[in-house]
Amino acid sequence: MILLDGKAVSLGIQETIKTEVRMRFTPETAPKLCVILVGENPASASYVKTKCAMAQRLGFRHELHHFPADVSSDQIEARIDALNADPDCDALFVQLPLPKHLDSVALANRVRSEKDADGLTRASMGALLLGESHGFQPCTPRGIIRLLDAYGIELSGKEAVVVGRSNIVGKPMGVLLQQRHATVTTCHTKTLDLANHVKRADILVAAVGVPHLIKGEWIKPGAVIVDAGFTKTADGTILGDVEFEAASLRASHITPVPGGVGPMTVITLMAQTLHAALRRKTPSKSEN
Ligand code: NAP
Repeated sequence: MILLDGKAVSLGIQETIKTEVRMRFTPETAPKLCVILVGENPASASYVKTKCAMAQRLGFRHELHHFPADVSSDQIEARIDALNADPDCDALFVQLPLPKHLDSVALANRVRSEKDADGLTRASMGALLLGESHGFQPCTPRGIIRLLDAYGIELSGKEAVVVGRSNIVGKPMGVLLQQRHATVTTCHTKTLDLANHVKRADILVAAVGVPHLIKGEWIKPGAVIVDAGFTKTADGTILGDVEFEAASLRASHITPVPGGVGPMTVITLMAQTLHAALRRKTPSKSEN
């Protein structure tokens, strides 16, 4: 069994990005990532901290716009509009989830598509669905494809099963796997007999958020298992959606949790921020 080591793959990409930043930018013109964080959700605060620390490590500039939990939608909209108009801000994202009184989809969608390093606006999602290459892609599924590519895993013709159909992971994951010529099944809460679908999977992507929902005995011998699930228990243990130990006995490849999908999500955000900054430096004619 081979561990799909997202941390190690991310380290390699970090070196490439650092070199590119050193060669193409000065500290004053380095890629700039702006983050909007609302409230005090500890998980969101921790994700934002990780992303800002990575931006720093890569030589990017970064800016945190932190609002109290009771901020009005108008205030967030005004800040997004200002950052959209600021030529010094290359990439901008709103850390989700947002407090219930705010419309996450509308706010995430307000980000200008050229700055959408998170890949979650309608324009980016539409481009993804149409197979257009210029759009940014949602970071977790894009990072998963990059991880599978790093290990030379063939997707064409394979039976791929994605458990979960969220806008940020499951849905775009299915599209990306299909674009790579896998035959894709998407499972969700209304799926009848989840076990039987999982048992057919050559490639399994679990993106549910229910610890150990996927049983080791369901895994097809030789399958490739990608576990995006990330649940912190009361004692601080982090659990994935797949029974790791039991699944490892049958899988050919498996991601650890943590250390698999998470680092690939973060580095994909950074790669897309760099891409946005490079476009700022050398805009194509159509973007002038
Ligand atoms: P989400 O929006 O809550 O979506 C969960 C999906 O799982 C839904 O489509 C839901 O189906 C499905 N589901 C829930 N219970 C199920 C069950 N018993 N059987 C089959 N399907 C079930 O979650 P998300 O944002 O996609 O995140 C999923 C997991 O990935 C979470 O643990 C999250 O923390 C993690 N995550 C990790 C990263 C990373 O970088 N490592 C990034 C993003 C997310 P319905 O549609 O029918 O409700």
